[in-house]
Amino acid sequence: MAPVPRPLDLPKASVVSLVIPCRNESENLSALYVRAAAVMERIAEPWEMVCVNDGSTDDTMARLLALHREDPRVVVIDLSRNFGKEAALTAGLDHVRGDCAIPLDADLQDPPELIPELLAKWKEGYDVVNAVRLSRDGESWLKRASAHSFYRVINRMSDVEIPADTGDFRLLSRPVLEALKTLPERRRFMKGLFAWVGFRTTNVYYHREPRHAGRTKWNYWRLWNLAVEGITSFSQVPLQLAAYLGLVVSLLAFLYAIWLVISTLVYGNSVKGYPSMMVTLLFLGGVQLMALGVIGEYLGRIYEESKRRPVYLVRQAWGSGMENQEGKTLDPGVDQAS
Ligand code: UDP
Ligand code: MG
Repeated sequence: MAPVPRPLDLPKASVVSLVIPCRNESENLSALYVRAAAVMERIAEPWEMVCVNDGSTDDTMARLLALHREDPRVVVIDLSRNFGKEAALTAGLDHVRGDCAIPLDADLQDPPELIPELLAKWKEGYDVVNAVRLSRDGESWLKRASAHSFYRVINRMSDVEIPADTGDFRLLSRPVLEALKTLPERRRFMKGLFAWVGFRTTNVYYHREPRHAGRTKWNYWRLWNLAVEGITSFSQVPLQLAAYLGLVVSLLAFLYAIWLVISTLVYGNSVKGYPSMMVTLLFLGGVQLMALGVIGEYLGRIYEESKRRPVYLVRQAWGSGMENQEGKTLDPGVDQAS
């Protein structure tokens, strides 16, 4: 455990920014706003709630704009299409104006009531405060088991320690936000990036509730892809494994060859060994394809990164102070495109 740092020398009124990626969350937004606002009012710090609409196909956008009209502290960033949660979160974190930011899921799985605890730790002087789940209600046995093994695998393979049972729900101080902005990668495995930047980190614990309404956007195929993403972004062990596997197989093949020579000398030659030949052939073919696949996985990522496309595109923003250069806020009513 890190030594407790000295309290930060914070400005009197430090702004707290909540960051909420939203994809088809219209049923959750009002409940989320009510609960978050209730908590934030008690804290008596200025706050904003940066909601990123990640290409929703329901009326999430309309609900967000209604919230913004009611309370200008709700900032709305409308992405040009669905970019995925990691990109939406990046967009939100890029737009926050606060002295610290707290990403929250829109489905109320991350209880806003924990925010005061996160802030207390921040004021003690920590830069990153992870919210660690003690339980995961409403999630299947299989999902819990696969999450558990994912964290075990990735932490054995990677140099940065990615904390288990920690989602994106955490507090990030301004220096951490600035550090995150300097990371150039396009493929953003946020949990890994949060861990990679380091800083003084501590944990608080909570019980994870089931989704408030609506359905999760994750299925096992997407989770598997996220896991591959995480491992290939933060570890080169699979590449090394391919090399070692090749080495072991060649060694075995070499021993087998010696045995073949000896047995031919001792017992003479006979046309036997078709099964062993087939087994070797198929085994080697499989190993080669697997190694090629691993290399291809990394090559694909290099290709993606080398295109240097932006992580996300903003269609329009409301209340973020970036609407136009003069700093005038556009009237949300004059949204021409919709
Ligand atoms: N999300 C998003 N873009 C996507 C998928 C999800 O912004 O393409 C948001 C979603 O609205 C929610 C958060 O990411 O606020 C977590 O999604 P979800 O609850 O579906 O994931 P789970 O909690 O099941 O891991
Ligand atoms: Mg959820």
